[in-house]
Amino acid sequence: MIIVMKSKADPQELDNVIKWIESAGYKPHVSKGVERTIIGAIGDERGKVVLKALETMPGVEKVMPILQPYKLASRETKEGNTVITVGEVKIGGPKFVVIAGPCAVESEEQLMESAYVVKKAGASMLRGGAFKPRTSPYSFQGMGEEGLKILAQAREKTGLPVVTEVMSTSEVELVESYADVLQVGARNTQNFALLKAVGQAKKPVLLKRGMMTTLEELLMSAEYILASGNDHVILCERGIRTFETAMRNTLDISAVPVLKDKTHLPVIVDPSHAIGQWKFVLPLAKAAVAVGADGLLIEVHPDPQRALSDGPQSLKPEKFYKLMDEIESIAKIVRKEYAQGHGAH
Ligand code: PEP
Ligand code: MN
Repeated sequence: MIIVMKSKADPQELDNVIKWIESAGYKPHVSKGVERTIIGAIGDERGKVVLKALETMPGVEKVMPILQPYKLASRETKEGNTVITVGEVKIGGPKFVVIAGPCAVESEEQLMESAYVVKKAGASMLRGGAFKPRTSPYSFQGMGEEGLKILAQAREKTGLPVVTEVMSTSEVELVESYADVLQVGARNTQNFALLKAVGQAKKPVLLKRGMMTTLEELLMSAEYILASGNDHVILCERGIRTFETAMRNTLDISAVPVLKDKTHLPVIVDPSHAIGQWKFVLPLAKAAVAVGADGLLIEVHPDPQRALSDGPQSLKPEKFYKLMDEIESIAKIVRKEYAQGHGAH
């Protein structure tokens, strides 16, 4: 249920309501808006009539059911956008955010070179997988902790926060000790044990949409993380499986405005994994900015032909500089306020 406080409700009244919710066995989730405070009471749906009694308490305007099955992720519970801060980077705010880097950390040299390209291009964060989910067990599986160390080193040298994937519950603590943002990949979107584990982590989570998950399922997966105590979730559309075989996946561009309507969480787009071919990454990236995404995740590699994973979809540095240039002008039109000094090279 959602408890909407009166705009004139005082802190004592809010406190009393919170205590009442807790005593009824529900978890209060307070969201302070500009106008008024709303409280999501999260718990067993069957007892929600009990919460209706809150309407008689001082300071309470009304009590309404949350219609969506994802309670904390829903815009019903929080009207304003969630802005996630990672170091000096803000995701979900007016500034468009680009996260870029190679698919996998392959060596210190390869990652450092990528990191300088990403920095020079004016992107905000560095990506790179140390634990790689590969279709074949014979493919390169990632450098593991060694890769995490290289990522941390790149952050130190460039100041860029790093995003990297965590594949299993047993590795959450390790990955969290090095990364700034934990990525949950498309193959783990509905790995509920992993979602609960990253929900207990202190770092933001970049949650990718599975190749076969509906938007509602994606939001329910986000709900697992939020319900476990981590409010910092970034959603990522990365293409879904359709009957079309001309591309690696089909980028569901319509997911962006629909998600933005349903949730307060930031939504970014990964055109690289969607299309699977470097030459189409730019047009899809432009589309993502234009459709209202909060950011992009782009694979960049200093030498894509030698990449150990996802080379065909990775941009060479000069192509990435061009992309940064071209999306800037679109972002200027689409975003209300777009910081200056972006993308010099
Ligand atoms: C990746 O980001 O390199 C990756 C494996 O992505 P996805 O989980 O979307 O396939
Ligand atoms: Mn990849």
